Amino acid sequence: MGFDIRALIEEHTGDGASLHAAHLNPQVPRMLHTIGFQRVLTAANGSWYEDADGERYLDFLSGFGVFGLGRNHPVIRQALHDVLDAELADMIQFDVPLLPGLLAQQLLARAPGMERVYFANSGTEAVEAALKFARCATGKQRVLYCDHAYHGLTVGSLSVNGAEEFRRGFDPLLADTLIPFGDLDAIEREVARGDVAALIVEPIQGKGVYLAPEGYLAGAQQLLHAKGGLLIVDEVQTGVGRTGRFFAHEYDGVTPDLVTVAKALSGGFVPVAATLARPGIFERVYSHIDRVFVHASTFAGNALAMTAALATLSVIDDEGLIANAERRGRQLTEGLERIGADHDLIKDIRGRGLMIGIEFGRPASLSARGVWTMLNTARKGLFAQLVVVPLHNRHRILTQVAGDNMAVIKLLPTLTIGDEEIATFLTAFEAVMADAKKPSALAIDFGKTLIQQSRKKSGT
Ligand code: PMP
Repeated sequence: MGFDIRALIEEHTGDGASLHAAHLNPQVPRMLHTIGFQRVLTAANGSWYEDADGERYLDFLSGFGVFGLGRNHPVIRQALHDVLDAELADMIQFDVPLLPGLLAQQLLARAPGMERVYFANSGTEAVEAALKFARCATGKQRVLYCDHAYHGLTVGSLSVNGAEEFRRGFDPLLADTLIPFGDLDAIEREVARGDVAALIVEPIQGKGVYLAPEGYLAGAQQLLHAKGGLLIVDEVQTGVGRTGRFFAHEYDGVTPDLVTVAKALSGGFVPVAATLARPGIFERVYSHIDRVFVHASTFAGNALAMTAALATLSVIDDEGLIANAERRGRQLTEGLERIGADHDLIKDIRGRGLMIGIEFGRPASLSARGVWTMLNTARKGLFAQLVVVPLHNRHRILTQVAGDNMAVIKLLPTLTIGDEEIATFLTAFEAVMADAKKPSALAIDFGKTLIQQSRKKSGT
């Protein structure tokens, strides 16, 4: 019998957890079991996915932002079928294939002031390229990065990660420098030493959903340029329409020196990433014919990835998804603010477009405050977990805690959401908040989940 992927999937449906436990990162099935999230997921469409029992789940995580267009978009699927059937001469390597050229043109048309594109296969690779390009173009070494920053987990990207929990166990990293997010004085102090190649910064930080203060990116770039440094804006999560603009830095009125993009560019199918650069940077990196492959990657620019990205850009335009992100973001935020007015546990609702953070804080009422303090003492950020868990287990909506040790949850729905998805989310969130007025109810629910899971595990 030849290879049959459908038969293979059918034969092994439900084996995911045991295979992961045996052969992959064993902490993943363990964590899912602990929070009661383990399911056999079988199908997905748009903003929804389904388990083996036919239950529907609303996806407000979008694969960490990959599914801007929703899942299994028919235009992307068709484009991928078509390009496979075209049997192209792909990845010849000693060749100048058409599709990367067309995609570069399309991306640059959406990024005024940028001139050239380097393609890669993941967000962290786009960041690695930006870090190397900045060093090479400036002849300087040190990179500044911000508190709470997340730029990926390969060694270069990890060296500019602002969260200790990711760095622990992987020392020594590059000698880059942590600065407070939004602090222009810190940049001025650091660049004065004359060795700063770049600042790398997210326009909205994924961890915690913190927005760059008004004027920060422009001010930072001015300070960097004055001392020969560059501004790298990491749009891996915020780019491709997520915030109601193609790039979030458009809100800041800057033209960065380097921009990274990935995630949603893939259409949810084929990993693809890009590093966009202003004029002059590639000229330094690829300065001579001998340096032709000085920074390169075997799979970069492959036809499937390029097709997925080209089709994604087309769908975003055809379906008006950037405008939808802005409009639906406003609608969702207004709904959340209405709920927030009745629940003093909700301290802040922030974000742009469809990247929204909800921050919880110490409530005023004495009874609720006691439990809040207890949970927060047990582990900072535990309260947010007590919101994410019932949203999923009771209301079948997937969200995430926005970072370790923070009382913030993050919403990253697909850019295609409409009234149904927004109403479903707001109704569920309000119900969870009503329970949270007596946080003990949430704590008991979560505690019960933990106990049930440990019983199942031990077979009792
Ligand atoms: N930069 C940012 C801003 C990100 O959000 C991420 C992923 N969450 C990355 C870089 C790394 O991307 P990847 O996981 O594709 O390597």
